[in-house]
Amino acid sequence: MKSNIDIKALDNAHHLHPFSTHHELREKGPRVITHAEGVYIYDEDGVRILDGMAGLWCVQLGYGRQELVDAATDAMKTLSYYNLFFQTTTPYAAKLADLISQKTPEGLDQITFACSGSEAVDGAIKLIWYYWNLKGKPEKKAIISRERAYHGSTVAAASLSGLPFMQGIFDLPLPRFHHIGPTPHYYEYGNAGESEHDFAMRCAKALEDKILELGPENVAAFAGEPVMGAGGLMLPPEGYWPEIERICRKYDILLWSDEVICGFGRTGEWFGCQTYGFTPDIMTMAKGVTSGYQPLSAIALNQRVAEPIINADTEMAHGFTYSGHPVAAAVAIRNIELIDELGLVGPRGEETSRYFQSKLKTLDDHPLVGQTRGVGLLGALELVKNKETKERFAPGGHAGVVCRGHCFETGVVMRAVGDTMFLCPPLVITNAEIDELFDLVRTALDKTAAELSV
Ligand code: PMP
Repeated sequence: MKSNIDIKALDNAHHLHPFSTHHELREKGPRVITHAEGVYIYDEDGVRILDGMAGLWCVQLGYGRQELVDAATDAMKTLSYYNLFFQTTTPYAAKLADLISQKTPEGLDQITFACSGSEAVDGAIKLIWYYWNLKGKPEKKAIISRERAYHGSTVAAASLSGLPFMQGIFDLPLPRFHHIGPTPHYYEYGNAGESEHDFAMRCAKALEDKILELGPENVAAFAGEPVMGAGGLMLPPEGYWPEIERICRKYDILLWSDEVICGFGRTGEWFGCQTYGFTPDIMTMAKGVTSGYQPLSAIALNQRVAEPIINADTEMAHGFTYSGHPVAAAVAIRNIELIDELGLVGPRGEETSRYFQSKLKTLDDHPLVGQTRGVGLLGALELVKNKETKERFAPGGHAGVVCRGHCFETGVVMRAVGDTMFLCPPLVITNAEIDELFDLVRTALDKTAAELSV
């Protein structure tokens, strides 16, 4: 789909991209993606690239699904816009709230909408503070999260995140946000001779220590991604989440599962907390709720948190012009129905995940790969210089950038964070496409090894 307009030149002249070093990007020029179908994206030269990242972890149903196009078109014709303020609703918002409440764990059945993951996270922070105010405990305001967590990029969501490169340049984090370590990632932070279970208990104890340091009477909530995503795709060590849940209950701290990546089938269940066996008080969700076709996010509250808010005489003065936008809600409804109809959380999803994970394991023999890990349709590999000692290439992050470049050239999208490479393909990927995905990844790894002289 080559146009005669020079897109790269236009972009270079006027566009400041998210998460980019601008002068570098302007020297190189951006990659231009013009269209997409199924699990493939296409650049302006017509080169086909297998999208191993489902966009930004969101395109559960793959690209160009007619059913979602139809849902959006119908809604746009029927009710192009209306809001949910002033005691008004739409059939789309009401049905979506009902549908989401059927998928969330028992009890988390009060839903409010926003447009992005970061907005849902910001909203959850406000609702948590509001809840404790209503409960007559206004001093309970500290929110604890983890080093290397990613919870979004608005002022509060970036403060909740545990990634200093997103914070210092903007004078963040705000007060009230506290980050604990070690990050629950056994490969990197487990001590020699320490079992995975002992490591999990050490990570959870860091929460208890922080609560005691701040005083439980000052702590409002603990927030975590069931699988830590954008900070490095780190799977919780065995036993971690039940222990976190126990600690939150012991000190009367709200437990918040940020399901923006894990939700809607990514880890094999509807939500990551179901995969890891814990029940939060609050959930935030976005991305997969619409397969990325429309911007929509949601917060789910359990009865305990919702009740004082519902019964309060003050209005919940929070929300957005586009909260639960009818077109986005229509797409979300059809998307969730299709995840059900296609068995993506269920038999087909289980079979695809099993096959994907077995192919991921085959990369363990590659000289560059120190570890593979994954769950559902999430996978990661660590690029190392020495498999035995886990020694990395210097400087850190270089191998990841080299590998990401080779992936694109080879025809597959993988994301790199440091020297960790991620995969997160659409849930509709077929076994034949999984074969192709891993052939391309292996080729890209071979090219990376050659460049790094392994
Ligand atoms: N929470 C988590 C766990 C995320 O992974 C992300 C985005 N990757 C966000 C929140 C923020 O979502 P958004 O980019 O839609 O604002």
